[in-house]
Amino acid sequence: MIYYCPSCWAEIAGHAEMCPACGADIRDFAGESYELKLIRALRHPEPTVPLRAATILGELQSKAAVPALIETATRTEDPYLQEAAVKALGALGDEAAAPCLDRLSREGALRVRIAARHALGLLGRHARQ
Ligand SMILES: [Zn+2]
Repeated sequence: MIYYCPSCWAEIAGHAEMCPACGADIRDFAGESYELKLIRALRHPEPTVPLRAATILGELQSKAAVPALIETATRTEDPYLQEAAVKALGALGDEAAAPCLDRLSREGALRVRIAARHALGLLGRHARQ
């Protein structure tokens, strides 16, 4: 079993009490679910971490992540993270994401617009022209 620091997602030893990479106290997170940790990772400053978290949340069908994914897609200026959040929202198929996806299908980076149009299709919606 591989363990990851719930704060920075560095690989750590299973018996560690403190993350050697970021110094987070692992015991603080013991009661938190994997899903919650991933949702929190959406705000991680290392760019690849939120990207990975968004993808995993989509694959896990994490309905609880929908508000955080909407917030991420709206907040970030990183088109790759936006794209990952949009794809996850499409995979989750939650209607709550429709206004956000509709907006992103019309503005921003091309890769984000394409992903948002596809995600709207998965929600049974069509992008407005
Ligand atoms: Zn850490």
